[in-house]
Amino acid sequence: MIKTIDLSKEFGNNSVLKNITTTIQPGEVVAVIGPSGSGKSTFLRCLNLLEQPSSGEIWFHDNEVANSNANKTEIRKNIGMVFQHFHLFPHMTVLENVTYAPVKVKKLKKDEAEQIAKELLAKVGLTDKESSYPNRLSGGQKQRVAIARALAMDPEAMLFDEPTSALDPEMVKEVLDVMKDLAQTGMTMVVVTHEMNFAKEVADRIMFLDEGRLMEEDKPQTFFNQPKTTRAKEFLDKVL
Ligand code: ADP
Ligand code: MG
Repeated sequence: MIKTIDLSKEFGNNSVLKNITTTIQPGEVVAVIGPSGSGKSTFLRCLNLLEQPSSGEIWFHDNEVANSNANKTEIRKNIGMVFQHFHLFPHMTVLENVTYAPVKVKKLKKDEAEQIAKELLAKVGLTDKESSYPNRLSGGQKQRVAIARALAMDPEAMLFDEPTSALDPEMVKEVLDVMKDLAQTGMTMVVVTHEMNFAKEVADRIMFLDEGRLMEEDKPQTFFNQPKTTRAKEFLDKVL
């Protein structure tokens, strides 16, 4: 569904992604792990063209989208993104947060968007919060709204950038559970995470980045039990 070929990104003379070549299959759940500063967020941001790659190709289905005049809004409509710090619209209620883009970008009728939003809010366990403003919600609730909001666009794939890193420990599970359910529905997901248990249990594949390089790419069992590179071994020694 998504394929990168020699994807590279530089900020000035800081080479942040170096020739990343990978393919994400429909329905696949990929966990992206690696040390801080290794390029994980930049990789995700390139996938939905929030960052313009310096070189290389990004294919979405049969279209090369990094070097063409592809309509970036069109790509982003199909790839939802969830951030560490939620990025909810503070002046809108939960329901308005979830219906805003479907009405504005997808031109859904308000009733239709609200019906979809209510179904999604039920799915993430927030039916009783639809009239609340974000500042009245816990971090875990905010993140579940952010997930519902991304899903309201009916995306083909979802990108998550450390969705639980800003949460108090007791709220991590409620968000990971929503993500697990989503994975079980067959959603294509790329998840940057430090939650190694989630990566082990839910991911079909691990991508390990180090200093902008894709050092290893393997099934979780193989990666966690038999990492091939010293870098991965050192990383796992620190986090496990
Ligand atoms: P990670 O998510 O793995 O922690 P990032 O992708 O955020 O890593 O960052 C990788 C490197 O790119 C870091 O050195 C960071 O400082 C740099 N970087 C990220 N975004 C920008 C930007 N917009 N401008 C300049 N440098 C950036
Ligand atoms: Mg990051």
